Amino acid sequence: MKKTIKLSLEPYFGNLYVAHTKEAYNNKHKSLFGDYDEIKPLMGGRFASANDKHGTLTYLIWAKDKNFLVHEMSHVVLDLFEITGIDPRECGGEPFCYMLCSLLSRCK
Ligand SMILES: [Zn+2]
Repeated sequence: MKKTIKLSLEPYFGNLYVAHTKEAYNNKHKSLFGDYDEIKPLMGGRFASANDKHGTLTYLIWAKDKNFLVHEMSHVVLDLFEITGIDPRECGGEPFCYMLCSLLSRCK
């Protein structure tokens, strides 16, 4: 298994990196955003967002298990929708739920 995978946020813009370990998360945080993040021992997941060096909207998450993965992934989609101007409750929440489902299904 790769330590960090990159997922497209199509049909929206930007990239999402999913790290499989805290160490991989922090190394990627440094290479993407220029500094290390602080992950406290009791944390089960972490979410970061910023523009990368090229100005592309970039998300980075780490989650210790499936439950935290859903939690952190929800932060990504909610943030993306806020930036894009989409109300996540629109159409009974379908665009939000489909995007969340699509990302989770590609997160192997
Ligand atoms: Zn949270």
